[in-house]
Amino acid sequence: MFDLHIHSTYSDGKLDPESIIINLKEQKIQGFSITDHDCIAGLEEAATISKMCNIKFIPGIEFGVSYNGREIHILGYFIDYKNEKLNDFVIKLQENRKVRISNTLIRLNELGVKINESSLNIYKGSDFISRSHIAMYLVDNNYVKSINEAFEKYLGESGSAYIEKNEVELKDVLDIIKISSGVSILAHPFKMKEKEIIDIINSGIDGIEVINSKHSRDTIINLMKIVDKYNLIPTAGSDCHGRLYDENYLMGKFLSPNSSIKRLESLHNLRK
Ligand code: AMP
Ligand code: MN
Ligand code: MN
Ligand code: MN
Repeated sequence: MFDLHIHSTYSDGKLDPESIIINLKEQKIQGFSITDHDCIAGLEEAATISKMCNIKFIPGIEFGVSYNGREIHILGYFIDYKNEKLNDFVIKLQENRKVRISNTLIRLNELGVKINESSLNIYKGSDFISRSHIAMYLVDNNYVKSINEAFEKYLGESGSAYIEKNEVELKDVLDIIKISSGVSILAHPFKMKEKEIIDIINSGIDGIEVINSKHSRDTIINLMKIVDKYNLIPTAGSDCHGRLYDENYLMGKFLSPNSSIKRLESLHNLRK
């Protein structure tokens, strides 16, 4: 059984690959994937430590794409993270992130929030930057009481400092996953209508993340029906960002069966 959705310090997760692996080993989890946002920088390190620790590792990524005027997420598994086109694509996404965050900071200053790029350094685990790092600063400096409020008041779609993301198309992301011999999975579609999910299936997605820490029982049952009907690969993952819930991490608590891992790997082998 594998936890296929974990964020590390290479995006907005609190734990580095080594700490993630130590925790999963303690829980006797067989394997996992690291799926950082638009980022592959932690994969080589995770692969090396996994080998030493005798735990199975599947290189992953979580892309944000624009769909019907909002953002949805697409997971890529078994990606060849040395692929040149994938590397070029990801570099561009990271540059877009920097521009977006810098525009968000300008907007926040206009709104009276005293914040600059170096304010975020203590929250960053790498070069990667996201709105969640800004949210942590806003909480620590008493502009808001919680991360959720930071998104509601300032950073989320209805927030006063919201800056649109530079659009990345679904087709481009599905193509780049295929080019790097990966397998594409629609991430946590709990807010999507069935019609939209079918539309994504028709665009060529390989599977759906049926189980995620954000999914209710009903969502899981409905998604499983869709997966069966369209013969897609079902996956599961915690979406752990390293936060503690009742003194436990989410990682290792939402697991993909080995039958799904086999299907992901077979498809990957066909695309090599
Ligand atoms: P970005 O990648 O810069 O668009 O930032 C989005 C990240 O912020 C997501 O990956 C989530 O981890 C986090 N996030 C988004 N909305 C919320 C929210 N309402 N509460 C807490 N975290 C959020
Ligand atoms: Mn995140
Ligand atoms: Mn996501
Ligand atoms: Mn995620």
